[in-house]
Amino acid sequence: MSGRNPIEALARLRHEFGEHGGVNMSIEASSTFTVMEPGTMPAMFQGLKGHDAGCYLYGRHFNPTVYHLGLQLAAIEGTEAAYCTASGMGAISATLLALCNAGDHIVASNAVYGGTYALMHDFLPEKAGIATTFVDITDLEAVRNAITDKTRVVYTESLSADVPKLAAIAHEAGVPLVVDNTFSPLILSPVDLGADVVVHSITKFISGMSDVIAGAVCGTEEFIESLMDLHEGPLMLLGPTMDAKVAANISLRIPHLPLRMAAHGERALALAERLDEFGAQVCYPGLDGHPDHELLDDLRCPDYGYGGVMTVDMGTEEKANALMSTLQNKYGFGFMAVSLGYFDTLMSCSGSSTSSEMTDEDKSAAHISPGLVRMSVGYTGTLEQRWQQLKGALDDVGFESAHAA
Ligand code: PLP
Repeated sequence: MSGRNPIEALARLRHEFGEHGGVNMSIEASSTFTVMEPGTMPAMFQGLKGHDAGCYLYGRHFNPTVYHLGLQLAAIEGTEAAYCTASGMGAISATLLALCNAGDHIVASNAVYGGTYALMHDFLPEKAGIATTFVDITDLEAVRNAITDKTRVVYTESLSADVPKLAAIAHEAGVPLVVDNTFSPLILSPVDLGADVVVHSITKFISGMSDVIAGAVCGTEEFIESLMDLHEGPLMLLGPTMDAKVAANISLRIPHLPLRMAAHGERALALAERLDEFGAQVCYPGLDGHPDHELLDDLRCPDYGYGGVMTVDMGTEEKANALMSTLQNKYGFGFMAVSLGYFDTLMSCSGSSTSSEMTDEDKSAAHISPGLVRMSVGYTGTLEQRWQQLKGALDDVGFESAHAA
């Protein structure tokens, strides 16, 4: 855990008053910006005048409202700068395309989100000549051995990753470590732990309401500026920039992100402990026996628990489907839906949904079995009520407790 406190950093940000003195900032919804003198525009195109001089050009390049949300994300992640994107995939693809050219190579965790896997496994080699070697990111020797003289990025998602050791390996080879911190905002601060760039799918916990698709890239001022370069910036040229109205909407949710993360973590731990006691094959990093438990205790900020995501292995896809359907349709425990970070519980069978892009071999290497139910645990209802629903559904689908056997 680092000594920096993201909550204090957020509170130190200059408050943006609304145009009429409103306590919420005004939304700068314009897609283009006027200049007072004709000479200003050429200077902006030559990079001589920018937003730091109060000169704005065009919404895809830069927008003050989106910039403000970027400041909040940078405060959370402890980076010099951040900028927000239209989606998590927009953030990930822009970051990789900024760091890699044709012929370059990525070393990535084999347990990344299915869309990220498909981007690296299928899209980037085909469209851009960028190859990826997938490795078990907990096997540090395998990570070191996968790095070649063509490697430009080591990429991982935050949970399970020993960020300080991975950063040391990446830096030894002269390449940056990029961490997708979607699962653990505030719980982990990858840059404080040695990473160079953090990406987020804001769509998940940071939004918290499953009503917007959004993302962010957090890094040095120089790196974030490079994403918006007029000639080579992937955000500027591929265009996955965030809409100002979305940015204003998300910005208002940042102050209660800490409360929401703590609530997700508390409920997930309580349910995981009860499931474990009940004899279910539950996997949650907050449980003592979990392989990442001690590592996470070393790295995490203790105020937000161990995150909101756990898995229950029901053995077969049929049993997994029966459990999810009973939980949704009989008990109203949550929803059969992909994604995570919603205030209600979301359940999906990872192997046939969010990780279906992976080959069978890669799924098995990432321990994604066909009966695995992923739950993003929400905080609505009471713990007792949710536990009775979960236990009831397990009984209904004929779950046999390992303890009872
Ligand atoms: N990263 C992770 C860990 C995800 O789970 C997802 C989406 O599920 C993404 C990135 C992609 O984010 P988005 O759907 O906002 O593009």
